[in-house]
Amino acid sequence: ERRSQAEPEFQQAVREVLETLEPVLEEHPEYIEGGILERLVEPERQILFRVPWVDDSGKVQVNRGYRVQFNSALGPFKGGLRFHPSVNLSVVKFLGFEQIFKNALTSQRIGGGKGGSDFNPAGKSDAEVMRFCQAFMSELVHYIGEHTDVPAGDIGVGSREIGYLFGQYRRMTNRYEAGVLTGKGKGWGGAEVRTEATGYGAVFFAEEMLQRVGESVAGRRAAISGSGNVAIYAIEKVQQLGGRAVTASDSGGYIVDEGGIDVELLKQIKEVERGRISEYADRKPGSHFVANGSVWDVRAEIAIPCATQNELGADGARSLLKNGVRAVTEGANMPTTPEAVELFQEAGVLFAPGKAANAGGVATSALEMSQNAARSRWDFDKSENRLHEIMRDVHDMTFAASERYGKPGDYVLGANSAGFVTVAQAMLEQGII
Ligand code: NDP
Repeated sequence: ERRSQAEPEFQQAVREVLETLEPVLEEHPEYIEGGILERLVEPERQILFRVPWVDDSGKVQVNRGYRVQFNSALGPFKGGLRFHPSVNLSVVKFLGFEQIFKNALTSQRIGGGKGGSDFNPAGKSDAEVMRFCQAFMSELVHYIGEHTDVPAGDIGVGSREIGYLFGQYRRMTNRYEAGVLTGKGKGWGGAEVRTEATGYGAVFFAEEMLQRVGESVAGRRAAISGSGNVAIYAIEKVQQLGGRAVTASDSGGYIVDEGGIDVELLKQIKEVERGRISEYADRKPGSHFVANGSVWDVRAEIAIPCATQNELGADGARSLLKNGVRAVTEGANMPTTPEAVELFQEAGVLFAPGKAANAGGVATSALEMSQNAARSRWDFDKSENRLHEIMRDVHDMTFAASERYGKPGDYVLGANSAGFVTVAQAMLEQGII
């Protein structure tokens, strides 16, 4: 705690994990003796760097770049890059810490890391985004590699940015090292279903939880926040499974479409035009936009927060509970505050933490790495089936751990303990490093 006093998000993420580990540590005193906890909360390496670039008016801009290489006991560091003005060391460390356990749950042999910059892509021209990405990679190049650290996308980093980053990596190293980044374009090493994977995976996880208690997504209303990569494909999969996703949002407000969100229109506005969610209501009769207010006030049986950390607090939880929510699945990382998680769990709502529910994205990234290494390419159906299997395994592993440690159906305990034991055991066997 002393070393991370000014890092509230990181402390929140660590506390949330450590608080659940008591029964695990009782069973495994060797983890305490081996200093696993002390080692686990300290990143193996943190890199902070200057990112100077020139904007369209010719002015020099300077941002800060981050890469936190948190834990590589299971494989090369793996985790996304976030470009958003709110990025700071606390945010990158919380994301990197969560990533360790999430990656362990995928069983794909990948370590945990995260990075990004306080660069704000909103309103920047394509050329500015390219110059920023090139400047960012000019420094990051020294620390990554297919066997060392493999970054991917996150908020503000999609296939366009990964393309510019990869181009600069290739130019600077004079090597075609496809496996150094994931989320690449499909024509040059990207995997099928990577774009869809996190959103689809979160809904597959919700379906597994519901089926275990004899229910399903079909026929249910879902409230989804965000309108980025994760949200769009969570909405698409809810509809494919016969449910009805009725909301989407961005930092400007939320839309409600009682008939079910028109996914093609949503993709056109957000992916093609890079517009705002309010434009959906302008173009879709029968839908409406709410500028101020909470998307969690909309009645839904399934809630899938897919925007950012701490976006679903106690008020949102109370409102969802009042309206009869049955399942909450985190598409984003740590979107639900600890108070809200407690309210859901006390009310007996099925609650899936992000480190389990949104693991489909990084799992599919690992499949992209395998395909790059084998110089092969899987088709869409094979890739989606594999994602589905992985999410089923993550669910089953998480549920089994919740049973083993005394709280069947507590997926927070299940995800933390199953992820922790896998990493802790590897660290123990590899000695004090
Ligand atoms: P995108 O950049 O594609 O979309 C982010 C969405 O969330 C946008 O609608 C954005 O609205 C909204 N948002 C972001 N920050 C805020 C904020 N501070 N307040 C309100 N709204 C906000 O990102 P992703 O969809 O990739 O990521 C969303 C979440 O999912 C993040 O928590 C990320 O870490 C997590 N995640 C993503 C994975 C992936 O594969 N992409 C994998 C696993 C987790 P606006 O445009 O107004 O900012």
